[in-house]
Amino acid sequence: MKSYDLHGIGMTSARSRARLVNLLERKQVTHSGVLEAFAAVPRHIFVEEAMAHLAYQDRALPIGHGQTISQPFTVAVMTAALLESPRDSVLEVGTGSGFQTALLAQLCAKVFTVERIKPLLDQARRRFEALKIRNVFSKLGDGYDGWADQGPFGGILVTAAPRAVPRRLLEQLDVGGRMVVPVGGDGNQRLKVIDRTGQGYGEREVDGARFVPLVKGLRT
Ligand code: SAH
Repeated sequence: MKSYDLHGIGMTSARSRARLVNLLERKQVTHSGVLEAFAAVPRHIFVEEAMAHLAYQDRALPIGHGQTISQPFTVAVMTAALLESPRDSVLEVGTGSGFQTALLAQLCAKVFTVERIKPLLDQARRRFEALKIRNVFSKLGDGYDGWADQGPFGGILVTAAPRAVPRRLLEQLDVGGRMVVPVGGDGNQRLKVIDRTGQGYGEREVDGARFVPLVKGLRT
């Protein structure tokens, strides 16, 4: 597990991260890899400075452009579900702040991530750079298209909700791979876990969750 020692952050941040890990454990998150990743990645780096003091609470926070950094508990549940699939190459749709990406970078060999809002992507890239994260590959694009050149992926994690599972993402899922995707409209979302086998796709639902919508096309 990599550890980040950022100038000027020091112990306080390690203690804050440990408290968040504790909170997640109390909510029945048991996956040790996920908990270790939460203990390693400084979430306050991924929110605006004015909100840094809220970064280690279990809540979603605004990141600008009408988007949010997801609630840690939700991120933990989705990540734990994803990690039962191969971890050599995973695709994240909706980079947002880059926090989920940074967690995946701790746990997977290569992480590909797509975001449609350029200023969010640029900011996330600066954070990966600052944290010396080298196994993340990101691009501006429409996540409905996935990242065909780099596929197929052992895991695909969608962090915004489409109305239906995007067909092109299903195509880019490797046999033996798993996709975790929230599906549905406002107030009616289901978190789906989809496994691709030699025979086709198997699907189950985890639990209710709330995500911003997966929007078609680049932001104009
Ligand atoms: N994983 C992020 C969650 C951010 S919210 C985090 O931890 O911060 C979801 C993100 O998905 C937003 O940044 C939004 O702009 C992005 N998004 C929505 N529709 C998209 C699309 N079609 N393609 C790529 N990104 C999209």
